[in-house]
Amino acid sequence: MIYLSEYFLSLQGEGAFSGHRSLFLRFGGCNLECSGFGVPYKIGDEQRYSCDSFYSVDRYFQKEWKKVERPETILEIVSRYDVYDVVITGGEPLLYWKNPIFQTILKELHKSKRVTIETNGTIEIGHFSNTVFAISPKLSNSKEKFQKRFNFKALQSLQNRNSFFKFVLDKKSLQNGLGEEVLEYQKLFPETPIYCMPLGENRQKLEENSEAVANFSIQNGFIFSDRIQVRIWDKKRGI
Ligand code: SF4
Repeated sequence: MIYLSEYFLSLQGEGAFSGHRSLFLRFGGCNLECSGFGVPYKIGDEQRYSCDSFYSVDRYFQKEWKKVERPETILEIVSRYDVYDVVITGGEPLLYWKNPIFQTILKELHKSKRVTIETNGTIEIGHFSNTVFAISPKLSNSKEKFQKRFNFKALQSLQNRNSFFKFVLDKKSLQNGLGEEVLEYQKLFPETPIYCMPLGENRQKLEENSEAVANFSIQNGFIFSDRIQVRIWDKKRGI
């Protein structure tokens, strides 16, 4: 069984294929919570914090996710769209890596699509050279424990000629030395392109963090990535 939280046609807003028309398949469930990203939501009276995909992360929302018991369910959705780029995102979609349904979906999509998997880079996988891995390792600003958010073997397993890193950075953490953590990743994987992206689940927060991230990118020769979806549609979901 795998869970699909939502799907939608939009523009890829981040990373190497920014601006490309893409079909997003967002799978439910994550092995991290990233409360440090500070997006607030309430379950009853309880205030919780996570990332802007909290509704695909927190198991409370599982009742809203679609149960996928056959690969055809996903392939039929994809067949409705005349689109080249398919983005598999979450949550953490690699939680399903060993699931035969997930593998069949990937195999079929690879016949005619460019497939990008957006991952936090903590789950070790087998070799799969055609897939683009947009690896977004979480840094200390996610408030996840290092042991939970860093897995060298997993990061190694995700490296191929299409892979790239995408780091979420904010102004305050950069002032407190967060950039050093990005430089450590560069030392470990010098061949892998690094995109630096401002934290911000809405236009205002994105604006607040953009200049510091842009300056950090210039100083270190990294690639700045905007979040087009937030810049254009602000907090709207399903875009
Ligand atoms: S790893 Fe990604 S999807 Fe999971 S909680 Fe952190 S930011 Fe959200």
